[in-house]
Amino acid sequence: MSRIAYVNGRYVPLRDAFVHIEDRGYQFADGVYEGIAVRKGGPVDRDPHIARLYRSMAELAITPPVAQRAWPFLLNTMIRRNHIRDGFLYIQVTRGVARRDHPFPSESLTSLVITCRPVNFDAVARRARGGVAAITARDERWPRADIKSISLLPNILAKQKAREAGAFEAVLVDGEGLVTEGSSTNIWIVKDGVAITRSAAFNDQFNILAGITRATLMQVAKTHDIQVKEAAFSVADALKADEMFLTSSTGCVTPIVTLDGTAIGTGTPGPIGLALVEAYMAYMG
Ligand code: PMP
Repeated sequence: MSRIAYVNGRYVPLRDAFVHIEDRGYQFADGVYEGIAVRKGGPVDRDPHIARLYRSMAELAITPPVAQRAWPFLLNTMIRRNHIRDGFLYIQVTRGVARRDHPFPSESLTSLVITCRPVNFDAVARRARGGVAAITARDERWPRADIKSISLLPNILAKQKAREAGAFEAVLVDGEGLVTEGSSTNIWIVKDGVAITRSAAFNDQFNILAGITRATLMQVAKTHDIQVKEAAFSVADALKADEMFLTSSTGCVTPIVTLDGTAIGTGTPGPIGLALVEAYMAYMG
């Protein structure tokens, strides 16, 4: 069955889905994106994802490509036309096509591309229950990690470093030795029964992306009487933690059982991480 992409108002077979070489996304990474899980044929946490997309666009003065009320229909159409039950919606918005020049063009039409592909969340849950390895890597990104920019070179270099080390994720560490987030995930530790994750609020600067899974999990944890605290923690804190886990739209909640080869806690997923894996899977439906 051929996959269908949405490209600037048209639904086209993926193999025929192209953008112009002078698209500023291609030339400058001048764009933003969102990734949304699809479960049982519906987007998970659609509205907060769309709200974050609007925030990213506003921060970069990118004109929204469609009316805000169009999103539910667009996303549902992509899910339906790709026959997706469980999957991943990818939305990319760029400043559009213009003659290559650094300043914003006086005229350009914002580009919008949407794709949708299947994801096996049973396999995600199985991987989570077994736990994954992570490594540390220097956080070499620009300071605006709060904007979901398509400029992801430092993220992909860190992820590649992890994969070459046989690990699933790279935990990014700032100049003060504090963990910011993962290369494509938010990072949590558990100490004395409290789940701790770095604040997404502005404090001198933004340090992390305000993950939607992170925000949802805070609510889910509350309903399971699991205490959550927003605080910075170091690599040393992580190594002394009882548990560690990551969150993201497609990684859901996944326990991290080793960091740079050192066991976290018992070196197996702990009770709070495992409880949150199940609670988040139940939330997804
Ligand atoms: N941090 C970064 C750097 C990410 O790329 C992502 C996933 N796109 C996340 C965190 C997790 O965000 P979410 O839960 O909204 O998928």
